[in-house]
Amino acid sequence: MKTLGIDIGGTNIKYGVVENNIIIYNILTKSEVAKGKQFLIGKIVSIIENCKKNYNIKSIGIGIAGLVDYQRGFVFESPNLPEWEGVNLKNELKIVNLPISIDNDANCFALGEYLLRKDKKIKNLIGITLGTGIGGSLILDGKIYRGSNGFAGEIGHIKVEPDGRKCNCGQNGCLEAYSSGFAIEKKSKEIFGEKIAVSSLYQIALKGNRKAIEIFNEAFEKLGIVCAGLIDLLNPDIIVFGGGLSNMREFLLIPLKKLIQKNCYKKLYEKVRIEVSQSDIDSGIIGATYLINSNK
Ligand SMILES: [Zn+2]
Repeated sequence: MKTLGIDIGGTNIKYGVVENNIIIYNILTKSEVAKGKQFLIGKIVSIIENCKKNYNIKSIGIGIAGLVDYQRGFVFESPNLPEWEGVNLKNELKIVNLPISIDNDANCFALGEYLLRKDKKIKNLIGITLGTGIGGSLILDGKIYRGSNGFAGEIGHIKVEPDGRKCNCGQNGCLEAYSSGFAIEKKSKEIFGEKIAVSSLYQIALKGNRKAIEIFNEAFEKLGIVCAGLIDLLNPDIIVFGGGLSNMREFLLIPLKKLIQKNCYKKLYEKVRIEVSQSDIDSGIIGATYLINSNK
């Protein structure tokens, strides 16, 4: 049976047709959020109609950045998708006439990582997506941990500075205001006088530019402290990073492991694996297609 997985982020929409856990067709396209909510909904509808026509898909799973009521398919708010406050996406997509499940994009990523790893020893996995914003998800004892309201895992909004930088969620001092792509680009403007895309800043840092290196070091130091706290709290088997920033190995994974080791309770650090996803696009899409089963 073919299913369609769609991952809607602040910058890109990634989607793929999945059969037997393998993506047989996938595309990455821009979200173009500046064109407004209705434009983006229209784009999603045409993606679905197109895949329906060509692949005879039977169900759809959608991951979206933000606070989502997965049972109703309702998006309460999405800091990186302006105008998406209070959107019943499931209703908006009724027109396509197929079963649809909608969840937070980080939950889809973590679920995909959990399923694709096929490692029976892994029961507790923390997924962190580092992109325009920062998403988080907790798989505990093999299931998405949702908390009381269904919103657990908002790692990006853990406070790292009292009264610190303004975050897109409306609060101050959140991790996302320091360690996300959005925050790093904002900081580049402060330091270099112009906003530099994270991917370009990464290239500048790789060439040894000290100011660029310092921007990454400062951003990921806060992430390291938060990860150490998560390990102390949850004693996970693995923390896995996805999203556009996760491949910046020299500035992310290597210093992060040292920071976590330094700040973590020693016994809890001994077994935890800290990894970057090998296929985060696949994980988000495959995780989304599993929602219909996992949310029953
Ligand atoms: Zn925040």
